[in-house]
Amino acid sequence: MFQVRTQLDEQCNRHLEDKKFEMYYHLLVKTNETTNLTRITDIDEVYYRHFYDSIILTKYLDLKHKTILDVGAGAGFPSLPLKIVEPSLQVTIVDSLGKRISFLQDLVEALELTNVELIHGRAEELNTKNSYDFVVSRAVARFQILAELTLPFVKPGGYLVAYKSIQYEEELAEAKNGIAVLGGEIERVESYSVSNEETHVLIFIKKIKPTSPNYPRNFGRMKKQPL
Ligand code: SAM
Repeated sequence: MFQVRTQLDEQCNRHLEDKKFEMYYHLLVKTNETTNLTRITDIDEVYYRHFYDSIILTKYLDLKHKTILDVGAGAGFPSLPLKIVEPSLQVTIVDSLGKRISFLQDLVEALELTNVELIHGRAEELNTKNSYDFVVSRAVARFQILAELTLPFVKPGGYLVAYKSIQYEEELAEAKNGIAVLGGEIERVESYSVSNEETHVLIFIKKIKPTSPNYPRNFGRMKKQPL
């Protein structure tokens, strides 16, 4: 059993008691013996740095019956913990690593999660532009690149939510122009703790108009000529 960090959000702590998180933990750690999924395997660290860190978004957004795209979910973070907490959420995951997608297939089956679409591919090749209520992404790229990989898929009125470390200011400033070009507007930044020593942030970018069909460009262009 994980050790509850009582100084953190009570409701999120309560969500972690769901048996599905225990099953998730065991399958993650077992698969991690043969497939590289996470550097963190200690139970308290997985519960707080992966599960709690993912579900904190439920404090800020109502996810009921919403559609969400998770770009580069890796071992499922943050969208699958969000799905456990809000079962009516419709999740699409895109990840370029086949081994991670196959772990996610096993996980979705084991936890009997419905309405989860798993796509093995690159985000910039998706053709579902301007269509998701929310796009989320954690630990995938610097903001300037991340904005182009994610914002084109948010529908007008929806949000991109980027999970970042507390040192986010410089990369957000760098991405400002690109966010505007892609039809977004920086709305707010919320900070939260995952332990006594660690603070993370959620950056909310509102989609105020549809993204031009010219974006996202291929990854080479994005890197060479960032917006
Ligand atoms: N989001 C997870 C987390 O926070 O633990 C995984 C982070 S992992 C460091 C980054 C993941 O993004 C990898 O699984 C990688 O395959 C995926 N990725 C990177 N660029 C991508 C792209 N352009 N399209 C889809 N997946 C991508």
